[in-house]
Amino acid sequence: MDAADVSGDLEKVLFTNDEIQARVAEIAAQIDADYEGRDVLMVGVLNGAVMVMSDLQRAMRSHVEMDWMAVSSYGAGTQSSGVVRILKDLNVDLDGRHVIVVEDIIDTGLTLSYLMSNLASRNPASLEIMTMFRKPDAAQMEVPVKYVGFEIPNEFVVGYGLDFAGRYRNLRDVGTLAKHVYS
Ligand code: IMP
Repeated sequence: MDAADVSGDLEKVLFTNDEIQARVAEIAAQIDADYEGRDVLMVGVLNGAVMVMSDLQRAMRSHVEMDWMAVSSYGAGTQSSGVVRILKDLNVDLDGRHVIVVEDIIDTGLTLSYLMSNLASRNPASLEIMTMFRKPDAAQMEVPVKYVGFEIPNEFVVGYGLDFAGRYRNLRDVGTLAKHVYS
C-alpha cells in the first residue's frame, strides 16, 4: 500500500518509497565496497527488518547470505518496554563470519545493545550494524552503528516494515502516525 491508501491515519509522510529505495541503493553500494572479497552474513531482526533486508540485499552486487532472529519489542504499544527476549534464534553459526545486523529502526537502542553483546559472544570475525532509521535517543548507545539510512525525529513512525499493532508494515512510504490512531 501507498500513503494515499491510509492518508487519514498519517500525520505526515517523512520518506517516500523512491527516497527510501535511493538511500538503500547507496548503502548497498557502500557495503559492496567495504566488504569486497569477503562473504557477508546479514542477520535481520524480525519482523520489522524484512523490507529493508529484502531491498538491501537485492540492491547489492556481491553475494550475501541472510539469517533471522526474533526478539520481543514493544508489543502493541508505542513505548520501549526495556525487556528483550529471544523468540527465535539464528540457524547458522557465527564463528569466523563477517556479520551485519540489519535493523528497521533504533529508538532507545535497548534491543540492539542486548543483541550485539549476545552476537559478539558467538565469535564472529566482524560485527557491524545497519539500520534504516535512527531516533535521537540512540545517540546514548555504546555500540557504534556503521550504516544509517535516515536520522528521524523522536516520533512514532510506521511503514517500510514498521508497524503499529501489526499494521502498516506493508506501507511503502514512511510517515508519522496520527494521534487519533493510537490514543
Ligand atoms: P529500541 O529497543 O527502543 O531501540 O526499539 C527497537 C524496536 O522497537 C524496533 O526494532 C521496532 O520494532 C520498535 N520501534 C521503535 N520505534 C518505533 C517506531 O517509531 N515505529 C514502530 N516501531 C518502532
